[in-house]
Amino acid sequence: MLDRVAKLKDYQTYIDGKWVDAASGKTFQTLDPYTGSAWANIPECDGRDVDIAVAAAYRAFETGPWPQLTPTARGKILRRIAGLIEKHAEHLAEIEVRDNGKLISEMLAQTKYLPEWFYYYGGLADKIQGAVVPVDRPDHFNYVLREPIGVCAFITPWNSPLMLTGWKLAPALAAGCTVVIKPSEYTSASLLEFMRLVVAEADLPPGVVNVVTGYGAVAGEPLVTHPKIAKVAFTGGTATGARVNELAAKTFKKVSLELGGKSPNIVFDDCILEDAVSGAISGIFAATGQTCIAGSRLLVQESIHDVFVEKLVAMAREAKLGDPGLFETQVGPVTTPPQYQKVLSYIDIAKGEGATCVLGGGPAGKDEGGGTYFVKPTIFTNVDNKMRIAQEEVFGPVLSVIKFTDEEDALRIANDIAYGLGAGVWTQSIKRAYTMARRIKAGTVWVNTYRAVSFTMPFGGYKASGLGRENGIETMDGYLQSKSVWINNGSGGGNPFIMKTAS
Ligand code: NDP
Repeated sequence: MLDRVAKLKDYQTYIDGKWVDAASGKTFQTLDPYTGSAWANIPECDGRDVDIAVAAAYRAFETGPWPQLTPTARGKILRRIAGLIEKHAEHLAEIEVRDNGKLISEMLAQTKYLPEWFYYYGGLADKIQGAVVPVDRPDHFNYVLREPIGVCAFITPWNSPLMLTGWKLAPALAAGCTVVIKPSEYTSASLLEFMRLVVAEADLPPGVVNVVTGYGAVAGEPLVTHPKIAKVAFTGGTATGARVNELAAKTFKKVSLELGGKSPNIVFDDCILEDAVSGAISGIFAATGQTCIAGSRLLVQESIHDVFVEKLVAMAREAKLGDPGLFETQVGPVTTPPQYQKVLSYIDIAKGEGATCVLGGGPAGKDEGGGTYFVKPTIFTNVDNKMRIAQEEVFGPVLSVIKFTDEEDALRIANDIAYGLGAGVWTQSIKRAYTMARRIKAGTVWVNTYRAVSFTMPFGGYKASGLGRENGIETMDGYLQSKSVWINNGSGGGNPFIMKTAS
């Protein structure tokens, strides 16, 4: 049971190795979505705090002890961070539940898994290698250095605050970058606890990791546009991502974007039915549907459609709503008041479009285990892929079921969408699994599973679901840049007015 004390907790933010109030002296309240009550005050940072934080990160990158550390020493610090997260995983998970109302079982699984990112990238820190390049000039020695890109800005959402920060922080630190993080205004507390219990204890030099809490337009934009920021790593909605990308382009920053999705979860008639039903439920109702990879379009082959929907509804109907701080709860509240309204408005849109609501379809009251900001697990059938409920991201426990005839039809529907983040395929045919995995336009395809992620596997979106990849070795490229070095061991002669080419 979470400790829901009545007294408001006051947080400061962490800049240049010190705990500070916002320059404005202002704070805002963060809500517990289960009770609907404020539980903490968070500093309301603005451009002035951003300037101080970026200056600290820039100093740390250029002149602090951080750039003097060997990559091996950086790797050790990352491993220390991993150990500290392990030590405080339960506390960090409880704070996340308090702030975003997601299930303790889900948040604890995330905070317990998060250390792996720091072990993995800690191990990679001293394996970042350049190259000696054979150039067609015998009197030259050429090599390529891989250097950290500089000060990075992270902008993160409210649904999995620490995990999505860790996906960025671990590779950035391994590369030798310094960072300024702007968490979602709805879920800043777990990052501030992370700074207190993990970063401040891990012997990172001051200024290497800084936090500016506050609103997107007030703290986020000055960060994204700051001339000393070299890279922006953003996770959030597609519209915000487009704006961030546009702003960052003005000063030629590197940008990675992890954005929204409307992922197809495709069930063929040769699947193992029970597994696919459970996969469909996990795809949409886990985390109350508030995951970018939610399998929110369930494509079911028409030959098994009715029996599948019957089993699906029967299982979803049994979902236990309630206090997200209890391990037995299966569906918690929607995280933010605007998101709650948005989910309900999409239910109305679906009804207005002529979809058939076969489960849920509105707020869940206290008698149903719900309360403030709870939406009943909702399933719509008779959904056409052209409807808004099939094309737009709801980010809540609302499933659209769409019938298909055969593989080609499934592919056509699956790919007929602006997004391309994830996709599920349920089949016992290896040939079909390979074909679908090859032809679906999405950054991740799961076959006979759903929502699996790992530090070793690249994660990111096709199309409007994003730019670049997080996780795996390739994400390191986003925090590094190459420098070509030419050393002339021969004469300096030749015509000075023409470019020096090979022969
Ligand atoms: P938003 O896009 O609303 O916000 C994301 C972050 O951007 C927040 O920190 C927000 O601050 C900040 N922000 C808002 N406006 C600006 C701006 N003009 N300049 C700079 N920063 C800004 O997303 P949500 O927090 O609502 O998260 C939900 C979305 O995130 C969903 O669409 C989901 O699909 C996506 N997501 C994608 C994931 C992926 O890996 N692909 C993973 C998880 C979520 P503030 O909160 O103060 O507004």
